[in-house]
Amino acid sequence: MNQLERLWEYQQADVEVDNLEASIRRSPKRQKLVKLRDSYQDLQKSLKQIEDEILAMVDRMDALKDAIGLAEDQLKQLQTRIQDQPADSSEGIRTFIEEAQRLSTSLNDFEQETRRIRKNAADRDRMQRDVKIRLIAAKDEFIPLRDEYDAEYKDMQAAVEQLRGKAREKLDGIEAEYLEKYNTIKQHSVPPMARLQDGQCGGCNMAFPSSVLYSIKSGKLVECETCGRMIIV
Ligand SMILES: [Zn+2]
Repeated sequence: MNQLERLWEYQQADVEVDNLEASIRRSPKRQKLVKLRDSYQDLQKSLKQIEDEILAMVDRMDALKDAIGLAEDQLKQLQTRIQDQPADSSEGIRTFIEEAQRLSTSLNDFEQETRRIRKNAADRDRMQRDVKIRLIAAKDEFIPLRDEYDAEYKDMQAAVEQLRGKAREKLDGIEAEYLEKYNTIKQHSVPPMARLQDGQCGGCNMAFPSSVLYSIKSGKLVECETCGRMIIV
């Protein structure tokens, strides 16, 4: 067996390893787990957002409580002022009325906002409960599936290791230079070797000129100009 033939045999074993690994990655159970994990993380994110919104509401409610207290004090002070020094001109009366109106409008606005926030806070509380329930459900679905998958994965991984061992055995007698070339080509063309088929590259169907064909047939290391694969007769 020449180097290319040995390398071809190694490639057969190497492809089997890659195929099994790819099928593990594509396993429906694994994909379902990835989906469940993603939706769990989304739920956690929205829970955090709801909690932040509730905190902001609590802060705003505190500020509103202070503002309402202040406006009520000012209104009381205005009443005392009106009683102690009743206005003696129409302009003075108008000023009192305007100030009283301004304060009661502010109070009204503050109270409306308070009611709005209370309603929003109640909505957020409901949302928070709902998200927490969904988080628990997602976890309940995730954990048994993960345990099942872990057990399967262990078996699959053992099979991968076995195939890897077989591939390693095929490396016997292959010169480092050839293996290095194989690995370099594999980074852009998989599999990295192709058969010569009717004068064409079996990887990309490029037709070889007769001088190149001659080199290939004489067992020289030839790489396809188009796809870069090593060509074997
Ligand atoms: Zn090619």
